[in-house]
Amino acid sequence: MTEAETAEGHDEAHQGALGTRLNWLRAAVLGANDGIVSTAGLVVGVAGATDDRSALLTAGLAGLLAGSMSMAAGEYVSVSTQRDSEKAALAQERRELREEPEAELEELSGLLEDRGLSAEVAREAARQLTDRDALRAHARVELGIDPDELANPWHAAGASFLAFTAGALLPLLAIVLPPSSVRLYVTVGSVLAALALTGWGSARLGSAPVGAAVLRNVAGGAVAMGVTYLAGSLLGAAGV
Ligand SMILES: [Zn+2]
Repeated sequence: MTEAETAEGHDEAHQGALGTRLNWLRAAVLGANDGIVSTAGLVVGVAGATDDRSALLTAGLAGLLAGSMSMAAGEYVSVSTQRDSEKAALAQERRELREEPEAELEELSGLLEDRGLSAEVAREAARQLTDRDALRAHARVELGIDPDELANPWHAAGASFLAFTAGALLPLLAIVLPPSSVRLYVTVGSVLAALALTGWGSARLGSAPVGAAVLRNVAGGAVAMGVTYLAGSLLGAAGV
């Protein structure tokens, strides 16, 4: 077992703030990756059709804004829904605790026993947890959520927006800044290098094999740029 694997096992055992932070980091890397691939495909496709810098800038910027807002809106909707269902589950738990506290104590004790405590210790632990903060204990043990740390949809939306924008800026700048004779080489080169980096990052964060992830990610970006460049060139040549 490598040091990284040991650390990973440790994280899983705790599943606390560190796990949450790793999830956020993983989402940020994936969001940036999305921004790189979709904007690179877009600007390379337009570059296949035209040399006009302002057309490239317009297309790239529109792609950046459309993509980042679409990501943010999707994230907002999904996290809001998750938050609503967690709130509903907490409300039901609160009601059950009020209406049948004895059955709830029994339930908590059973859940703790399932986790490996002896019947006697589980009963005592359930009693102490219930005395301290029954709702929190049921939220954690039964629902697997922390009532004080429900995901915030605005935070999630903002993070997606920023991650996508950070990724999208790379191909946008790479296509508009260099002289027209080299802009495609600069864009394709920097995009493939960045995709190698995000592929490496997401593989490390998910403790997956790095080589295969980098290769898949770079190949995916290369295909995206190849297809849109071909389409742009055909349209450009046809004078559409
Ligand atoms: Zn309960």
